[in-house]
Amino acid sequence: MSDPKQTPAMKQYFRFKKEHPDCVLFFRMGDFYELFFEDATTVAPQLGLTLTERTGGVPLAGAPHHQLDNYLRKLVALGYRVAIADQIQDPKEAKGVVERAVTQVVTPGTLVDDGLLDGSAVNRIAAVVFTDSGDDSPASVAVAEVSTGELTLFDADSKTLADELASRAISELLFAEPGSGDPPPRTQRVLDRLEIAGTGRPAWHFREEESLEAVLTQFKVTTLAGFGLETGDPAVRAAGALIRYLRETQAIDNEGVASRPGAIAAATLAHLQPPKREDPAGRCIVDAVSLRALEIEKTIRDGAVKGSVVGLFLGQAGQGGCRTAMGKRLVRDWLCRPAGRLETITSRHDRVAALVSDRRLADEIGHALSPIQDVARIAGRLALGRATPRDVVGIGRSLSFIERLCELTDNTPAFAAQHSELRGIESVLRPIAERVEAECVEDPPALLRDGGVFREGVDKRLDEARSLQTDASKWLADYQAKIAQELDLPGIKVGYNKVFGYYVELTAVQAASAGDRLAQHALTRKQTLKNAERYITPELKDFEDKVSRAESMAQEIERELFTKLTAELTKHLGALSAFSNAVAELDVLTAFADRATRRGWTRPEMTSGGELSLVEARHPVLEEALEHDFVPNGLTLGGSDAALALITGPNMAGKSTFIRQVALVTLLAHAGSFVPAKAATIGLTDRIFTRVGADDALHRGQSTFMVEMIETANILNHAGEKSLVILDEIGRGTSTLDGLSLAWAIVETLSERGPRTLFATHYHELTDLESQLEGKVRNLHVAVREWAGEGDQPEIVFLHQIEPGRSEQSFGIHVARLAGVPQAVTDRARDVLGSLAVHHGAKVEAPKSPKEQPAQMSLFTEFVPHPAVDRLREIKLDEMSPMQAFDELRRLSDSTRDAKG
Ligand code: ADP
Repeated sequence: MSDPKQTPAMKQYFRFKKEHPDCVLFFRMGDFYELFFEDATTVAPQLGLTLTERTGGVPLAGAPHHQLDNYLRKLVALGYRVAIADQIQDPKEAKGVVERAVTQVVTPGTLVDDGLLDGSAVNRIAAVVFTDSGDDSPASVAVAEVSTGELTLFDADSKTLADELASRAISELLFAEPGSGDPPPRTQRVLDRLEIAGTGRPAWHFREEESLEAVLTQFKVTTLAGFGLETGDPAVRAAGALIRYLRETQAIDNEGVASRPGAIAAATLAHLQPPKREDPAGRCIVDAVSLRALEIEKTIRDGAVKGSVVGLFLGQAGQGGCRTAMGKRLVRDWLCRPAGRLETITSRHDRVAALVSDRRLADEIGHALSPIQDVARIAGRLALGRATPRDVVGIGRSLSFIERLCELTDNTPAFAAQHSELRGIESVLRPIAERVEAECVEDPPALLRDGGVFREGVDKRLDEARSLQTDASKWLADYQAKIAQELDLPGIKVGYNKVFGYYVELTAVQAASAGDRLAQHALTRKQTLKNAERYITPELKDFEDKVSRAESMAQEIERELFTKLTAELTKHLGALSAFSNAVAELDVLTAFADRATRRGWTRPEMTSGGELSLVEARHPVLEEALEHDFVPNGLTLGGSDAALALITGPNMAGKSTFIRQVALVTLLAHAGSFVPAKAATIGLTDRIFTRVGADDALHRGQSTFMVEMIETANILNHAGEKSLVILDEIGRGTSTLDGLSLAWAIVETLSERGPRTLFATHYHELTDLESQLEGKVRNLHVAVREWAGEGDQPEIVFLHQIEPGRSEQSFGIHVARLAGVPQAVTDRARDVLGSLAVHHGAKVEAPKSPKEQPAQMSLFTEFVPHPAVDRLREIKLDEMSPMQAFDELRRLSDSTRDAKG
């Protein structure tokens, strides 16, 4: 027997495996994708596949080909890269082993197929270039969304790189692989923090000359000047490396063509838009920590989108939810990367206002948007040769709504720019929409090879081939009657099945009674069933051949027509992407308007000043859950008022909710939405910083306090006078005195620097800063009402109302009681509190301001243990005789008397 590892197919296998050593290889054999060797043993259990053995003891697991998407989704989620080796030749035509090729490499950042990618999820890939060798080198980054073709460039410093990547929903990061193979530490840090896949690529892909070549080839240009880019721009090096990777994973050769079975048109990556540098001032930056703490994309508790701010706009259409997949992705981008320029923001507000004041218009735009499919991703699949008949028909149908959107946006001044853009798109795309509609059936099959995509009358040859097929049923009926008569067996049937083809079926009784007549009429047995026999006749065989020729002819013609149609569509990728952008914007703005109407959100007044003034503001997510039970709260910060507010109040009073709500209102306004408040004036904000609660999951292995200080350091290093800073309980992770001192110094620094700041704290001592830093700091507290409850135990009710001034006490014991701590314990706690207050003096002395006393050393009274206590700790009682112990006791006793005297 020949070596099973050396069959021609296995030779192919090893070649592919060598070319893609870091991938799990799915190797197509007939109706299955086979996994061999280690791939089989590691992956089979994870996919629930049966592990078997091929001759010669080769481990093997097979996955049915039609389940491929399912397995890919699971494997990519588990962090694997998968190479797919397909048969690129019809097995019938193969002499010897059928030709195979790796037709796609699937990685987290390069998913494009419909079945693998959630429509509302944004999924991007980035390549990074560090511009010097230092550990804190600045970085230049290229980012692509493969499914839609967007390609942008930006720069970041070493501190903000991870934040920039997080806000863009990057799922895979390419980096130049150093000799060792492991990512360099600065890259590893980013990967760890964001928990995304890192893919090392040969360093030469990032070199100036080679990367430039990749970019120029992709866009068929000889210079980058037309894109406003310079040759030496490090971001171009990142773009070149990224493009090379995309071509490789999509198996596109140097001519820009991918040969792939079932590929309708050549994959070209033609949908990739020319690289564009992002406007650095165009965004209000919300770092990764803040995105998480404010629950913008998902909740902290269970990581679900529902319950997050983005979730508000993914709900039911008409209630504030977006209607199209493109809108759902854009709203995520707008909320994670709010706008930073006044013109952009007010233009969005103008349009939301127009839709709020004209509900009929909003509803009609909503109706026109609802049926529009994911044109952006379909355009991507067209460019990658992966579009299906349903994609093409979907695009045709979606384009037919442009006219309606043009009509609706006409005559509303706020939409003038969008209207003229849509008009332009319409004139380009209308002919192609009409062509799709004229040529394709309304409800095509999922796969081209199932046939029936094109209408009758589109192609004469197709009509002819089809009529042979339709005539078939009549021919069969006639033939059945004829053979029944010839055999004199009235009940016999002529039928068809996929495996055996056409047959004449006789029951066992009929077959027995027919005797010689079967041979006379040339019936040859084909298949024996339990109670029946099936036969073929020469006449039937002829017919079968003719039908199958007609069938493959029809298939061939449909493929040809489909290729032409998709090639035509591919010529308009630019217009398609402009259309999808326009739809996405309209969709998000309509969702903003719907929510504003539903919840009474108002238009914020945006200014270039430094104020933040809110009247009756609400928390956008909690208001949804609590409805009218939510207590609105206002605030003024900055401008002519103090820019920093300290908020005190008992646990559970609503401090965190309030400070988050202020951040969210600011963020929503910058995203272009109306805000949950009766009125709002908001000075343009360049960054929103949030440090709330301990977030251990994000920084495994570091102490809570360390994490808190790292994040606080980031704020202190970056917050400027146009920023908004939200701090909750800073200094909790260390001793009271350390914590209080740090909090004190942080407040002083921020009040000097001038960002609008909200600081929720337990440290009542801090409230003295209001008088010390007059005009810069003010006190707010959350009101509670206290009254004598059962058995004269004081009870409190939370009013959730923010009021000026400090809170009088901290109510921790009341809250413990509310939480169900037994009364005996809270009574005892009250006693202890009383005696501590007596020992320490009811109030600690507040420090002087640093100007009066630069070295503020003796901040607060501190407990210094008596030396006798240290001595007691050192004594080893077990090693002492009773006499030695007595002597030691006397010494200790004397020493305490000495100290007193
Ligand atoms: P704190 O930070 O002071 O401990 P939280 O902000 O966590 O308090 O609020 C505690 C609970 O009180 C929240 O879970 C919320 O249900 C409720 N709450 C907070 N603010 C309000 C409000 N303005 N209106 C109604 N309920 C509120």
